[in-house]
Amino acid sequence: PPDVEQLGRATWTFLHTTAAYYPERPTPTQRANMLSLIRALPLLYPCSHCADDLGEDMAAHPPDVSGRVGLSRWLCERHNVVNQKLGKEEFNCAKTDERWKDGPSD
Ligand code: FAD
Repeated sequence: PPDVEQLGRATWTFLHTTAAYYPERPTPTQRANMLSLIRALPLLYPCSHCADDLGEDMAAHPPDVSGRVGLSRWLCERHNVVNQKLGKEEFNCAKTDERWKDGPSD
């Protein structure tokens, strides 16, 4: 079976980075593709209890694919739900761009 920690770090890196570079004003096609990518996770993510919990969380909090800012915020909140479940520190979602796009400002 996959290493759930390594898989998680790699997947969060992919997802947060993809959200950070998602358009401010995506076309309908870009929105549909992002929705497909996200909706596939609870069906395909190769950690079944992770996938099940994500599916439940997503049912209560549907993905926001309206643009870069909303998507990054939505994903940060989903990651924080997992952080809380695992007893990890909550991440400050105001720092998402600094972490995944721009780097530290000084
Ligand atoms: P990670 O949580 O992997 O985070 C990587 C980096 O992202 C951090 O160092 C930090 O810089 C940044 N970061 C942290 N929080 C946020 C945030 N909220 N927003 C933006 N950036 C942030 N593991 C389990 O044991 N059980 C599960 O049920 C489970 N479910 C998962 C569901 C999904 C969809 C994913 C992708 C992973 C899941 N994992 C689960 C794995 C888990 O979330 C971690 O990836 C793993 O435990 C490694 O943690 P880490 O401390 O190295 O940092």
